[in-house]
Amino acid sequence: MKLSSFRGGIHPSGRKERTQDLAIISLPMPARLYVPLQQHIGEPAVARVVAGDPVVRGQVLGGSVGRISAPVHAPADGTVVEIIEFASPHPAALPVTTAVIEVSATQSPWVAPLEDPFSLSGAELAHQIQQAGIVGMGGATFPSAVKLQLARQHRVHTLIINGGECEPYLTCDDRLMRERAEQMLLGVELMLRCLGAEQAIIVVEDNKAAALANLRALCSDSHYSEPERIKTVSVPSRYPQGSQKQMIQSVTGKEVPAGTHATDLGVVMHNVATAYAVYEALVVGKPLVSRIVTVGGGAVPRPANLEVPLGTLVAELLRYCGLEDDNYERLLVGGPMMGQWLPHAQLPIIKGSSGIIALSEAETQMDLPSPCIRCARCVSVCPAGLLPLEMAKRIRKEDFSAAQALGLSDCIACGSCAYVCPSKIPLVQYFHYGKGELQVRKQQEKKLDRTADLASSKALRVEAIERQKAEAAALRKAQMAAKKAAEAAAQELLLSQSKPEITPVSSEERGD
Ligand code: SF4
Ligand code: SF4
Repeated sequence: MKLSSFRGGIHPSGRKERTQDLAIISLPMPARLYVPLQQHIGEPAVARVVAGDPVVRGQVLGGSVGRISAPVHAPADGTVVEIIEFASPHPAALPVTTAVIEVSATQSPWVAPLEDPFSLSGAELAHQIQQAGIVGMGGATFPSAVKLQLARQHRVHTLIINGGECEPYLTCDDRLMRERAEQMLLGVELMLRCLGAEQAIIVVEDNKAAALANLRALCSDSHYSEPERIKTVSVPSRYPQGSQKQMIQSVTGKEVPAGTHATDLGVVMHNVATAYAVYEALVVGKPLVSRIVTVGGGAVPRPANLEVPLGTLVAELLRYCGLEDDNYERLLVGGPMMGQWLPHAQLPIIKGSSGIIALSEAETQMDLPSPCIRCARCVSVCPAGLLPLEMAKRIRKEDFSAAQALGLSDCIACGSCAYVCPSKIPLVQYFHYGKGELQVRKQQEKKLDRTADLASSKALRVEAIERQKAEAAALRKAQMAAKKAAEAAAQELLLSQSKPEITPVSSEERGD
């Protein structure tokens, strides 16, 4: 298969050596789980349980609402002890409605669905994927069923399975492709069936030789898949190869133009861990209640690839890996390029948490920024073809509209520009800030529009009430007038009836 390439990109140090050969192990079930009801992009799930409710694992804790949403399930048997606002894995630890579960000592087994998932229609498969709460597990957390349904409507021909894992430190997808490839391939086949697509292409970076070899061997074995329908391709390791637009360009040679979607090119992309979650839900009967997380970074004494129940606190993972307290310089969720800094470790693992990286002092030594020397290195590595230095300049001046005009919303926040900048200018932080400000403005504009709508509908309501009042007054006046006229007529009639009848006297009778 002929592959293409995307523009820009960088080659950061992979730093995968410490975890890439470590097999996945299950983290012991913690005593308490903190399960947020929002673990996806879209509307938060709405609590279906209250404090004191016993729950069995797989039970719905939060039901999905609206078009873009996903349900949240109990990762363990136990009792809901509280529904609280609890800190989420976000740089500001924003509070999110969270079900706190006290976990039972014993756990019930998963029960496989009675129906063979391969006998279901595409729509039924999408429905079951929705019910299982599956979202994009590469970090995007977009509800997978919505993405599949849209792709079905667009009749996409190719499903791209992202096994790129280009972020430094992370090896959870690599281990999944090495250890659980057969199951993952069944998930791919089910997704293909759901989409009605012609083929699936699993894309793996060439620094994962063992995963590639394993997948190639399985894909060529017709016992597991139709060899012609599922292919594995190797792409050169280059960051941000795993980003959707860049990977699609590598595979198809076509760029997804700004303002359009991958489905417009007839393709859709899902992560390898998402395909595995589809297998678990539809074949094992286990909704999305756990995930594989790489715990790494120089501050971690015993790094690992852990299978973790969702809702486990980050501190539990660090403790399991030999890191007590906060003996690290910086903590982040996801990779160091596109991940997010965490203010502390008392935050839960959620569906999109692919890695917990605790960095040592040596790993975070940062030079102070100096003025831009206009070397244009940031321009040459930008995979989105933007002018990072110019955008940052506009954002520094708080001219967000000008930054937007330069393509700020096309920035995928990959951090490549900041990585190569010799002046150590924190470019990507400017872009996060600029995007945040634009978002706030958009929300304010929406609010103003809503207020204007409310004001105009209030004015309309007042006008209608005044009109009704005037009509009622006119009616009353007319009724009064009619009543008065009727009374006058009646009076007249009465008078005419009560007048004595005067018989005219003739002149003869008068003796004239
Ligand atoms: S890489 Fe840094 S120094 Fe060079 S042009 Fe871009 S912002 Fe300026
Ligand atoms: S962070 Fe944005 S501007 Fe910088 S290289 Fe990535 S896409 Fe380009």
